[in-house]
Amino acid sequence: MGSKEDYEGLVSEILSCTRCPLYSSRTRAVPGEGPLNASIMFVGEAPGRSEDLEGRPFVGSAGKLLDSLLSSIGVERGSVYITNVVKCRPPGNREPFDSEVRACNPYLRRQISMIKPKIIVALGRIAGRTLYEMAGLRWDSIRAARGRVERVRVEGVDLMLTVTFHPAAALYNPGLREELENDFKNVIAPLVRGFKTVRKTTLEEFFK
Ligand code: URA
Repeated sequence: MGSKEDYEGLVSEILSCTRCPLYSSRTRAVPGEGPLNASIMFVGEAPGRSEDLEGRPFVGSAGKLLDSLLSSIGVERGSVYITNVVKCRPPGNREPFDSEVRACNPYLRRQISMIKPKIIVALGRIAGRTLYEMAGLRWDSIRAARGRVERVRVEGVDLMLTVTFHPAAALYNPGLREELENDFKNVIAPLVRGFKTVRKTTLEEFFK
């Protein structure tokens, strides 16, 4: 775990960031939230309207669905770290441009190297593709990636990476919602068993 001072420094850089044009239309940047020694990290795409207003990730309707998915597998939201690939809201909730993802990527890298999660759950195509690239894996499509668990090293941190659909996509597509629920039940729940609390064990212990 990085020091509190390092983390606070990172948060204040994000809050005043001007690395890409999204800073000019944001209300607030959304660094992320959760315990700094969390074992599990969820990574979404970018803040939406509610997140931009509150400065917190996943507090709008997609966030409500994420909360209920977490509670369906017995994980408290407060025990996981939640962030996004892009920390500022793209206008009108469009997808972030590659240039925006690239400009913001050092922040996600620093979050991963400070928090050293054991498990990262990427929510949606943009987060999945970004984390696959960071892990040196070949990204094909969310259909191909979802439900798989990959042992990877990102920023020197050994972790398990899995990708599922974005909760916002599932809100508009009931078919996806069922698949998302199944991924939480069949892939994410078994993965996080043993890591429910913020307590960490070594990867060796985990694989015993
Ligand atoms: N969608 C995201 O990807 N992230 C949020 O924080 C909210 C909605």
